[in-house]
Amino acid sequence: FLTDKSAKIFVAGHRGLVGSAIVRKLQSLGFTNLVLRSHSELDLTRQSDVDSFFAAEKPRFVILVAAKVGGIHANNTYPADFIAINLQIQTNVIDSSFRHGVKKLLFLGSSCIYPKLAPQPIPENALLTGPLEPTNEWYAIAKIAGIKMCQAYRIQYGWDAISGMPTNLYGPNDNFHPENSHVLPALMRRFHEAKVNKAKQVVVWGTGSPLREFLHVDDLADAVVFLMDKYSGLEHLNVGSGKEVTIKDLAELVKEVVGFEGDLLWDTSKPDGTPRKLMDSSKLLGLGWTPKISLKDGLFDTYKWYVENVVEQ
Ligand code: GDP
Repeated sequence: FLTDKSAKIFVAGHRGLVGSAIVRKLQSLGFTNLVLRSHSELDLTRQSDVDSFFAAEKPRFVILVAAKVGGIHANNTYPADFIAINLQIQTNVIDSSFRHGVKKLLFLGSSCIYPKLAPQPIPENALLTGPLEPTNEWYAIAKIAGIKMCQAYRIQYGWDAISGMPTNLYGPNDNFHPENSHVLPALMRRFHEAKVNKAKQVVVWGTGSPLREFLHVDDLADAVVFLMDKYSGLEHLNVGSGKEVTIKDLAELVKEVVGFEGDLLWDTSKPDGTPRKLMDSSKLLGLGWTPKISLKDGLFDTYKWYVENVVEQ
């Protein structure tokens, strides 16, 4: 993958948190032939449009990170959209990639594919061993189908389709919505606004005791390139940092990075969610990949992006 920088690469979903990081990474490595289509240029849920696109462009590699994503609230409100749109996008892109001669495809999932009560850290083989977290099962079922589809095309046709399952991601282009976003961007925004408004306190949800793993999206992009270059296995691989923090420590760190000087007020009427969520990424680490961005450096980088692109826009 790394030897031919002029190979045509289609990054599906290049405007999102993950896709934009992959495009930055490929450009920094000197890839010159990226094919990118915005949603309005190509609707990936429309099978015939997707197929015509592949027939015309004939990309050599495909990185499939386009998906309908959202938090608990969105998943609960739009279950039909979450299952249908994700199944449509991935089925269209995977099948057209295969039929139009794509050499290798990478499909990206999420840690929510694993059973609610999976062992921690979660190994790859925990997949399909128990019931899912009900609030995001629509999204998870679609992603599981994507992994299985990649495996099935490899088994039936010997086609090189692989899957990676990232842990909680953060970084530039994240969703900073005050209620609907994940904890890290939500706290960054709240601390920032409290600093600007000279507030004395910031409310943080839950008890602060849950443990979460975070990976900067630039590290994920690095892992995606690594997998495209080095991995051609049947099994999906977890992609995590291996480092856990309590929500309390995360909140203190975000507070420090943002420069808010007041106090934290824990709202224990809000749910803690699952007590621990850590991926077992030892298989990927065993292949020689390592994450490079510490949580603190990653938070500074993300805060800078937030100020320049969200606050000042
Ligand atoms: P989860 O990893 O699927 O549980 O997703 P979240 O990122 O939404 O929540 C992670 C943890 O952070 C939970 O224990 C939340 O209660 C806690 N948390 C604290 N403050 C916030 C907040 O402002 N927004 C969110 N989303 N979570 C928060």
